Amino acid sequence: MTSPGGANAPLTVLLYHRVLGEPDSLSPGEPSAAQFDAQMAILSRTFRVLPLDDALSRLADGTLPSRALCVTFDDGYLDNLEVALPILRRHGLVATFFIASGLINGGRMMHDTVTETVRRLPTQAVDLAWMGLGIRTVGDVASRLVLIDDIVRKVKYLPFAERSETCGRLAAMVDGDLPNNLMMTSEDVHALKRGGMRIGAHTHEHPILSKLDAAEARAQIVKSRDVLADILGSVPTMFAYPNGKPGLDYTAEHVEMVKQAGFTSAVSVAFGTATRDSDHHQIPRFCPWDRDPKRLVMRLVGHPLRHKVAARV
Ligand SMILES: [Zn+2]
Repeated sequence: MTSPGGANAPLTVLLYHRVLGEPDSLSPGEPSAAQFDAQMAILSRTFRVLPLDDALSRLADGTLPSRALCVTFDDGYLDNLEVALPILRRHGLVATFFIASGLINGGRMMHDTVTETVRRLPTQAVDLAWMGLGIRTVGDVASRLVLIDDIVRKVKYLPFAERSETCGRLAAMVDGDLPNNLMMTSEDVHALKRGGMRIGAHTHEHPILSKLDAAEARAQIVKSRDVLADILGSVPTMFAYPNGKPGLDYTAEHVEMVKQAGFTSAVSVAFGTATRDSDHHQIPRFCPWDRDPKRLVMRLVGHPLRHKVAARV
């Protein structure tokens, strides 16, 4: 009753970032392979899991089946290929992966520069007054998680150039290089496609579009389209807004840019499920933070409009 088929069918779109091959105490929000496997097992039994582009076509046509659900991944992490893909294939599921085209091939997400720096800070007082965080003492996991959150909050909405500069200065506080193998390569992205998955664009360098001027924002959108077209041999038609909160991380101006760049659909992290009347360039998504797969399904089936949106996108 909560999910009829046909013209009134709602579409639930899930958003993942990573599936961890090894547990990581500094990434407590990301599912392990076993947790993701359990989620996919129960979702494939409970929902009709469709590729996002197919589901959106059927949503527009009014032919979406009941309990329709799509699985999406943002950013382009290597574990998407190495850990998530085999699990998706085992369950016969097709997911869509939104790739930040300038961060593959050895790049690093801002969030990971912060996490990997804080992971390497020695257990002692650290002077972060230069970024307005005073003197901080890090030691156990809990204190490091708090510091990661505080730094991300501080830098996330800085103008993009300043954000990059701040991350560089932060990374220079620890000895040695931070990892440059967290993201896929071009060949990995192509392998995902060959594995039956769908690929979409997620800007080139993952800036928050609302923090760029119009020309920069347009360039980020268009470049991700062109780089992925080169990699894949076909032009991507789906786009995901970095961070994705409507009115905060992107505006109507950016929706228009995405349309003008030729994308036929785009996903946000707006609250709720999509319906036939939804704007196909602002399809809402849901972050499945429930670790217990049965609870996740109960939440998706029973309370489709009570979804909380996770902070990290
Ligand atoms: Zn992202």
